[in-house]
Amino acid sequence: MIYMKKIGKEIIKLKDVFKYYRMGETIVKAVDGINISIKEGDFVAIMGPSGSGKSTSMNLVGSLDMPTKGRISLGGGDISELEESDLAQIRGKKIGFIFQSFNLIPNLSVKENVMLPMMFQGVEREEREEVAERLLEKVDLGNRGEHYPNQISGGEQQRVAIARALANDPEVILADEPTGNLDTKTGEKVMDFLKQLNKEGKTIIMVTHEPELAEAYAQKVYWLKDGKVEKITKKKNGFNLEKEERRLFGKKKRK
Ligand code: ADP
Ligand code: MG
Repeated sequence: MIYMKKIGKEIIKLKDVFKYYRMGETIVKAVDGINISIKEGDFVAIMGPSGSGKSTSMNLVGSLDMPTKGRISLGGGDISELEESDLAQIRGKKIGFIFQSFNLIPNLSVKENVMLPMMFQGVEREEREEVAERLLEKVDLGNRGEHYPNQISGGEQQRVAIARALANDPEVILADEPTGNLDTKTGEKVMDFLKQLNKEGKTIIMVTHEPELAEAYAQKVYWLKDGKVEKITKKKNGFNLEKEERRLFGKKKRK
């Protein structure tokens, strides 16, 4: 009997991607030739110290930004040549974004914030309301729909942002330092929702500068340094090979 491992389809690929910024006389190499491959159902972390190029990488992965050089494909198609309006449409359907600072719209209610991405996809009002209510229930905020962002806590705001990210039922969730503005306990609740979504089949890409967070939640970690991928670590069935190796063999490099 042959067991076939179910191999996820590759949905995002960055091939030799660079992002340089010119600042007067100097060139800032924010992303300096990276290769990233994300498969369906992955939970991937992009880890690195401040300034290592994590947010720039995430913006490229999420097609919020275009590379200086290199190829980016989304769902099998090269997006480098697309017009911004087509790109925005694809992005709005395929990707949900979560940011460190929540980025809710202050003069819209919690429910209206969650409804907004569906409006850009032309969903009828009634359905938008229904879906928003269901998603708010999902993140334990069924009773906060009429509140405004400044009337709820940071952890609650981030859960609204999760609900909003799910509005168009995207394949991929991109989260840039999702717990960066939260205390540990509140952050854990947010992470548990992301973990739950991953179990339900969503592909999660999380940016973080906290190695513990990356190692605890992600199956695959891209370690960035100075705009380059320094190493990639993988966890198989909850088993962290590299960590296990360190435990067994200490810090000494095996010959
Ligand atoms: P991280 O998210 O890991 O902290 P970033 O991706 O935000 O890092 O930034 C990487 C480097 O690129 C930093 O040195 C930053 O100052 C620079 N950088 C980022 N965005 C811009 C920009 N729009 N213009 C100029 N430099 C930028
Ligand atoms: Mg950043």
